Amino acid sequence: MSECLFCQIVDGTIPAEIVTRNERAIAFRDIDPKAPTHVLVIPTEHHRDLTALAAADSSQVADVLALAVEVAELEKLESGYRVVFNTGADGGQTVFHVHAHVMGGRRLIWPPG
Ligand code: 5GP
Ligand code: ZN
Repeated sequence: MSECLFCQIVDGTIPAEIVTRNERAIAFRDIDPKAPTHVLVIPTEHHRDLTALAAADSSQVADVLALAVEVAELEKLESGYRVVFNTGADGGQTVFHVHAHVMGGRRLIWPPG
């Protein structure tokens, strides 16, 4: 998926500030942060959204979530954080390579818009 923005971050064509990684997932800072900590966690393998990832290989969902928890630990989000997968157009997804948003560092309101 050479035309996919996040695949290009995986292969290093587009630079990103990497926070941490594991064998099958990468965490990097969002270019337009909506909270003091706003990190995206993606599987290195291309899948368009959470539904597709879970259908293809649910163990990769676990890898992404484990890395999201590691980000929260590294970023010292002891007082709380949020993990969100925007999925599909009505879910607010704009980049179609599945990603978890890990957000924290301020009081987050609920429900989101
Ligand atoms: P979505 O709207 O699909 O849930 O989230 C996509 C996220 O990707 C947005 O929060 C947006 O700021 C972020 N983003 C878009 N382009 C880039 C980029 O080139 N680099 C990084 N690091 N983040 C990006
Ligand atoms: Zn991709």
